[in-house]
Amino acid sequence: MGPALAATLARLNIHKVKDLLLHLPHRYQDRTRLVPLKELRVGQECLAQGQVVDSRVTYGRRRSWLIALSDGEGTLRLRFFHFAARQVDALQPGRFLRCFGEVRNGPTGLEMAHPEYRDYAAPPAAPEGGLTPVYPATKGLGQTRLRSLIGRLRELDWPPDSALPLETLQFLHFPPADATNADIAKAQERVARDELTAYYLVMRFRQSQRQRQEAMPLPRAQQLGRTLLDNLGFQLTGAQRRVLREVLLDLEKRRPMLRLLQGDVGSGKTVAAAFAAVRAAEHGAQTALMAPTEVLAEQHYLSFSSWLEPLGIRVALLTGGQKAKVRRRILESLAGGETLVVVGTHALIQATISFHNLALAIVDEQHRFGVHQRMALRAKGHAPHQLIMTATPIPRTLTMALYADMDVSVLDELPPGRQPITTRLVAASRRAEVLARIAKVLDAGQQAYWVCTLIEESDESSAQSAEATWTMLQAQLPGRRIGLVHGRMKSEEKTAAMAAFKAGRHQLLVATTVIEVGVDVANASLMIVENPERLGLAQLHQLRGRIGRGTHASYCLLLYGDDLSEASRARLKVIRESQDGFHIAEQDLALRGPGEISGTRQTGETRFRVADLNRHLHLIPEIVREGDRLLTEAPARADALRLAWAEDEANLAGLASV
Ligand code: ADP
Ligand code: MG
Repeated sequence: MGPALAATLARLNIHKVKDLLLHLPHRYQDRTRLVPLKELRVGQECLAQGQVVDSRVTYGRRRSWLIALSDGEGTLRLRFFHFAARQVDALQPGRFLRCFGEVRNGPTGLEMAHPEYRDYAAPPAAPEGGLTPVYPATKGLGQTRLRSLIGRLRELDWPPDSALPLETLQFLHFPPADATNADIAKAQERVARDELTAYYLVMRFRQSQRQRQEAMPLPRAQQLGRTLLDNLGFQLTGAQRRVLREVLLDLEKRRPMLRLLQGDVGSGKTVAAAFAAVRAAEHGAQTALMAPTEVLAEQHYLSFSSWLEPLGIRVALLTGGQKAKVRRRILESLAGGETLVVVGTHALIQATISFHNLALAIVDEQHRFGVHQRMALRAKGHAPHQLIMTATPIPRTLTMALYADMDVSVLDELPPGRQPITTRLVAASRRAEVLARIAKVLDAGQQAYWVCTLIEESDESSAQSAEATWTMLQAQLPGRRIGLVHGRMKSEEKTAAMAAFKAGRHQLLVATTVIEVGVDVANASLMIVENPERLGLAQLHQLRGRIGRGTHASYCLLLYGDDLSEASRARLKVIRESQDGFHIAEQDLALRGPGEISGTRQTGETRFRVADLNRHLHLIPEIVREGDRLLTEAPARADALRLAWAEDEANLAGLASV
């Protein structure tokens, strides 16, 4: 193979024969069934035939060749923009033509543009051949060429990797003429099972590798944690105590912890993290807490400093927007070890930062970060313990498979005294009532959020829409103090706006989804979300978690547009009826499939080659059992399977996270 072809193949992640074998069709065309012309439907890709009743070249805006076919009961037009005179000459009325293509609506009825076709003098024999594979292709490497390259795999009589199911893979590349869609699905499932098992094995392998690394053991030391507990002003929930025990036990070990802390919005993850940081500080060791947004970093900084500074633990904030001088001072105190806890955004993982002795890395709202970012933070110290916090509840089945390398703790209890949130769907046309409601809440001394969403979530356009809404609300709610926060503001402006809202100087906060995570203002009891149908359920649930944090009964009004689809309505119903993040995530999974759930490795980080969690999720419990069985009973086979699929780490990018 020449270098040009090799480069093109590389774009499809094909480097070796094995990769070619694993480059499976993503769908199949059915060329076995002739569809009568009167049964054709728009959007259908199918085989059709008829007799040519008309053939002409027209010279409108674009030169085109139009053929009309009839089979006695229905008609179909074929349209070509690129054609040779000799093609036109050959296709006289009366000829029989069989074609394959996608049916679409043309100016004078159904047509196919540029179908594949063949013509015959007499009606051709019944179609033969089976399902035709269609491959993921790339520029410069189309179906025909791919099929011919892959065609050579037919001759393989020994798999390029003995742990690969050669026969099943060949079946998927070259389905026999009588293969049905059900046969294909079965074969795909067989391969997906292998791939998912391999993925699980890689996770377990990473886990065992990690256990060989050395971290700084952080056993129980001074009583600073006790002091923090006394200072908090509230009792920890049972779930917090349990999770804390799990975390602190991990920290005592010489093996690096890798623990995923899942807890619904408002379940109090931050406090748990603070206790872990205190434990590190008791040993004079450092903690880095990474948050996905400046707003959130700022807020964590405030919480952490109020909890830890009284214990004599120095806390610093590091964000992108800081002045060089301030920043330099912070960096020095991190390198020198005087600052024991640093809270920050992505700024934390820049190359210029060196820690004196980083023992613990805490990542909040982990799905916002790519694995590489997490890695970089890790590389700053000597195998620090890691605590990953997420408020996106991940259904248990997915956790089992996708996070098999981590230990999982769940905060499944909210602090007492939380008010339930009543959620209502309100048509945007009832805006006046909504405004009256806001006025009433504000005048009663409570606070409210107005959240603007946009389809294209670019900072710029959502900033514009938030600004327009802010202007509108100021006009319509005269005399009320209204703040604004969006992603395009300078970080000092954002901080100031948040602080003003937190302190009650602003009664209403107009915001983009930047306030989605973590923002904590107990006096806010009303939230309006514009166009909620544009957001995922998990995201909506997150947003809504900004209210219902205090003692006031809270309301969330979802202001939907005119053309709410049935599907959107069904999804919003889930949000309206439930306040349980795990239930919502399960429903989201059922309604949309895991590909859409944010916070899972599937969306952001992992691309399976064959497995499709939308279709193969049900296999997971069995895969976990099988993986565990292989590890104990057939470790050699487990290794072979893992390496067969994961040798090329780039293809399993999600694995790089440990
Ligand atoms: P999340 O899990 O969403 O990150 P936070 O850690 O921000 O939740 O906690 C939400 C709010 O609840 C904070 O104001 C926090 O101080 C408070 N909180 C946490 N734990 C408790 C508790 N056990 N009792 C009362 N309030 C608590
Ligand atoms: Mg939080």
